[in-house]
Amino acid sequence: MRKLRACLNAITMLNITLPDGSQRQFPGPVTVAEVAASIGAGLAKAALGGRVEGQLVDTSHTITQDARLAIITAKDADGLDMIRHSTAHLLAYAVKELFPEAQVTIGPVIEHGFYYDFSYSRPFTPEDLAAIEKRMTQLAAKDEAVVRKVMPRDEAVQYFKGLGEHYKAEIIGSIPAGEDVSLYSEGAFTDLCRGPHVPSTGKLKHFKLMKVAGAYWRGDHRNEMLQRVYGTAWASKEDLQQYLTMLEEAEKRDHRKLGRELDLFHIDEHSPGTVFWHPQGWVLWQEVEQYMRRVYRDNGYLEVKGPQILDQGLWEKTGHWDKYRENMFVTESEKRDYALKPMNCPGHILIYKHGIKSYRDLPLRFGEFGQCHRNEPTGGLHGIMRVRAFTQDDGHIFCTEDQIQTEVKAFTTLLQKVYKDFGFTDIIYKLSTRPEKRIGTEESWDRAENALAEGLRASGCEFEYLPGEGAFYGPKIEYTLKDALGRPWQCGTIQVDPNMPERLDAEYVAEDGSRQRPIMLHRAIVGSLERFIGILIEQHAGALPVWLAPVQVAVLNITDAQADYARDVAQMLKNQGLRVDLDLRNEKITYKIREHSMQKRPYILVVGDKERAAGAVAVRARGNQDLGVMSLEAFRDRIASDITLKS
Ligand code: ZN
Repeated sequence: MRKLRACLNAITMLNITLPDGSQRQFPGPVTVAEVAASIGAGLAKAALGGRVEGQLVDTSHTITQDARLAIITAKDADGLDMIRHSTAHLLAYAVKELFPEAQVTIGPVIEHGFYYDFSYSRPFTPEDLAAIEKRMTQLAAKDEAVVRKVMPRDEAVQYFKGLGEHYKAEIIGSIPAGEDVSLYSEGAFTDLCRGPHVPSTGKLKHFKLMKVAGAYWRGDHRNEMLQRVYGTAWASKEDLQQYLTMLEEAEKRDHRKLGRELDLFHIDEHSPGTVFWHPQGWVLWQEVEQYMRRVYRDNGYLEVKGPQILDQGLWEKTGHWDKYRENMFVTESEKRDYALKPMNCPGHILIYKHGIKSYRDLPLRFGEFGQCHRNEPTGGLHGIMRVRAFTQDDGHIFCTEDQIQTEVKAFTTLLQKVYKDFGFTDIIYKLSTRPEKRIGTEESWDRAENALAEGLRASGCEFEYLPGEGAFYGPKIEYTLKDALGRPWQCGTIQVDPNMPERLDAEYVAEDGSRQRPIMLHRAIVGSLERFIGILIEQHAGALPVWLAPVQVAVLNITDAQADYARDVAQMLKNQGLRVDLDLRNEKITYKIREHSMQKRPYILVVGDKERAAGAVAVRARGNQDLGVMSLEAFRDRIASDITLKS
């Protein structure tokens, strides 16, 4: 008998392999929750779901055969997504309780949170949102179980029709006939969902509703306008608080707000998505451009300038006319069609092709502050960050395949220095490899991907791969900087392109006299100058480092008696190449100081009778720091060092 039981056990024993490689045996089918409980009470409580053989499931999921299992908690990215997704359901649950005639539609997870679209007779008000959030908190506190059940499609359609949920019925109706669908219920609320979900509403604690906006059903403006409620949800109270603080800080730093307050630029209805730079903003622009120009000059680039408008024939050869035409601004003259360039690359090839090139000319590096136009939809425009006309620090390196690695290394090192000079030290490196649809041989892809990887390694970078994310013609590296709020901004790139030289017939004479195609490396460090300046403004909250500040020093007199001395001081500083604002207005000195502080001047120099008599200045640094009285020489040394050190 004992022997028989042992034998049966051997047949039915279930082996669960955990992520650390350890194994657990169970006498038969077992749920994810039961496995978690067998490991420990803490894990049983923290478990939100599981990953069985790579597949995300609920904690109630029953495992029926040997499997690899990872228990998902709030610490996993997938766990956080489950929390956000489940909070969207909780939102719908609360809305249905408070507004029973509202109809539910869809509620996906988005970055940092979720939204849910409701059909309702009027927009939700801020008071409604507060009431909904309160009800969500109450429903979460009830800790109701979230239960999954499976239903045939047609039965589910009828079920939701019976509830008066016509949008849900429509969604389910579009699922192929004969398929089963899964529903999730918590308390009296049931929603269609693929899942998985957290096991009970008590797991949802750290959320906040953010705003409500109109959104068309299925994104089509001919359909009904729905009420989209946005929310955020996190694994812990600290995470939620940190996120809300970050948002507040981001709002304070919004470049559109600061651009207005510091009188840097504006966007005008007469040219949507195009920047009007005001005198102060243009100084900032010039500083960035001049700096990049020196970087080019000192690193083996030749600056060039191509035309703004090029004809249809060229864009046909590059493939843009066929594939990209709706994004180009097209114009016509003497019965020929032209387009404003959306990129500088073809122009650089035309310059390259002027005159015979030999292998001795390679690598040949062209740089251009080229203005490009791309017809982005109005809805996507955002201040100076997302515009229709932008200027790239664009460059193209014409080289041989063998030279790619060295060029990538040099470019990466250069990019790191540039970012550091602008105050960014945290950089993320990503290498995008061959996509499914591609041209070129496997060997050429191997060599190009390898050259990029080795180039990154040689410059001491740790990087991650983005498999399949490369362009159809070649792999690329993306350089993403993190700003003071931890937000990522992809600015730099270097891409391997053998295709455009082929299409536009660029060649060089090789050592053996044969004609060869060069490789073209597209590269940018800051990317769009407009966007980069927007990032800089937000990074520094408008308090730009001395070398970039549109006005570096404000000189203020206390009374008319020091007007001439103040003029002399200002002139002396200007002669040194500094950007100076002389303020001789007959206003109270406290008023003048406050105004220049609001304008975030790095230095304010105040001169009264005492300073005049001593040939000195009273120095205030940004952030209300009183540095006391200094000789003019001492101040000049100080600001000169700020500029040199880019501090
Ligand atoms: Zn290019």
